Amino acid sequence: MECELLTTCIFLNDRMANQSVIAEMFKQTYCRGRKLKCARYAVFVKLGIAKVPPDLFPSATDRAKRILQEQAAQFRGA
Ligand code: SF4
Repeated sequence: MECELLTTCIFLNDRMANQSVIAEMFKQTYCRGRKLKCARYAVFVKLGIAKVPPDLFPSATDRAKRILQEQAAQFRGA
């Protein structure tokens, strides 16, 4: 299932603009295959596109988890 953000994803269309081989690799792995494994998509689904850091790699699941945990802690008022 193709990711609905594929044509607008800042990471792929801006950050990776000069690295088309790597961008294509990410697209094959995540955007056209397993978007649910993408760190960017995980943050997007939970917090919205505005909270997805432009430089967050699709493979950076640990960073995505930290972002989600920090947001949850803020929400709880911790
Ligand atoms: S990098 Fe992730 S959020 Fe961006 S288009 Fe690909 S799967 Fe979707």
